Amino acid sequence: MKKIETGEDYISSLKNRDLSIYLLGQLVEDPTEHPIIRPSINALAKTYDLAHDAPELGSVISPFTGEPVSRFLHICTSVQDLVNQNKMQRRLGQLTGTCFQRCVGMDAFNALYSVTYEIDQSYNTDYHARLKSFLHMIHRYNLVIGGAMTDVKGDRRLPPHEQEEMYVRVTKRDKQGVYVTGAKAHQTGCINSHWIIVMPTIRLGERDKNFAIVGAIPVEASGITYIYGHQSCDLRSMDKGSLDVGNAQYSGQEAMIIFEDVFIPHEYIFMNGEYDYAALLVERFTAYHRRSYVCKSGVGDVLIGAAAAISEMNGVPHASHIKDKLVEMTHLNETIYGVGIAASYQGYRTEAGNYICDDMLANICKHHVTKIPYEMGRLAQDLAGGLVATMPSEQDINHPALKALLKKYLQGSKTVPTEDRLRMLRLIENMTLGRNAVGYLTESMHGAGSPQAQRIQILRTMQLEYKKRLAYVLAGIDEATDGHSAIEELSGYFERVFELE
Ligand code: SF4
Ligand code: FE
Repeated sequence: MKKIETGEDYISSLKNRDLSIYLLGQLVEDPTEHPIIRPSINALAKTYDLAHDAPELGSVISPFTGEPVSRFLHICTSVQDLVNQNKMQRRLGQLTGTCFQRCVGMDAFNALYSVTYEIDQSYNTDYHARLKSFLHMIHRYNLVIGGAMTDVKGDRRLPPHEQEEMYVRVTKRDKQGVYVTGAKAHQTGCINSHWIIVMPTIRLGERDKNFAIVGAIPVEASGITYIYGHQSCDLRSMDKGSLDVGNAQYSGQEAMIIFEDVFIPHEYIFMNGEYDYAALLVERFTAYHRRSYVCKSGVGDVLIGAAAAISEMNGVPHASHIKDKLVEMTHLNETIYGVGIAASYQGYRTEAGNYICDDMLANICKHHVTKIPYEMGRLAQDLAGGLVATMPSEQDINHPALKALLKKYLQGSKTVPTEDRLRMLRLIENMTLGRNAVGYLTESMHGAGSPQAQRIQILRTMQLEYKKRLAYVLAGIDEATDGHSAIEELSGYFERVFELE
């Protein structure tokens, strides 16, 4: 296999693979040629093109090979590395208007780098060295890694071991490795990856030992079935023409993965039974991944642009309420970016030597993302007007009996061709109601954890004791309710909050 350098190389690397993918009740022969799947491949290919066209943003020099490699495969060794990930994500959101699918693997690698190190310290295992040699191989070929964390969870009240048939788990062990069975739901970009890393999705107890498995599996491994998500308006990608689809080039990808006795050899196993580290892994992964959602600020830039453009096309760019709505969208969008990149700037070094972002700010970023895109979508639809949801199809627009009439009656500003106005409306529809609304809205809600998951983490880390002591001191009360001196203890808390490098 040759190292992948460009988007084109990447698309070629997905050809002739023996995958079992179902979509709309049929086995997919070649995903790269499937009209519903191809836009998601294009979005991921853009990450390679960016690395090629803007290497400072999209790539780094691999510490393993000394050659350029995608920034999505880089282990962060500084705060600046964390920040640069966010800058790359915003740019790719701008260029694709959708989910480019590559951050899950990036965040999984970075979380595993420190967690494997700490497991080894406790249990004298060699997961960290295994992870590094796996990374070395991945860097050599510049591959795409999918992170598979979210299990199907069945009855949410029951821990994994009480519903044996649901979560991914080890079903058999032999001298060479382990076999896993179970299912992962809505796995971003899994079919567009070369390898997937399975990881536990929740805190595990002693009886969940078989669920404490982390391992890398080739996407083509035998025993895996992929079932492609049937998403809002995806059939538009099969329409003739390019108008109604809204964004003909790019989309996200979500699929269910079913594992049936899939083999993982020891060299690709990075956790095997250390159930007490599952929660730490989930926490670190979500810290990285929740600030990765600055991707949505890049997508938001496109939506703001579309809202401004459609206002012009409707002939009302100077109305003060329109400008004000665009200001509101910008303020909301920059809030996502501001908090996400702040989480990276507040990053710190782990025991393993790599850098991780601030957990609280990462959670606040993602929590904003569960709400802001919906409000941005509302404002964009407000500016677009009702036609965004009622306009005729491209076939009607081009029908000989209707063409001239529709061209006349659907015209906005005289300076703008009718078709351009309709294209802009379809883009807004695509992003707020259609295919890419899946990524912009619902994935913003549930990806990297649903809103309540962030609130739980915020509750855990909001340092109420510290804040209460601040209040005690200023209120002139020396002794807090727990009997300790509020003034004496304050400095200890202070150092943890504002530690200086
Ligand atoms: Fe990356 Fe955003 Fe897609 Fe998640 S939703 S994989 S953070 S682009
Ligand atoms: Fe996601």
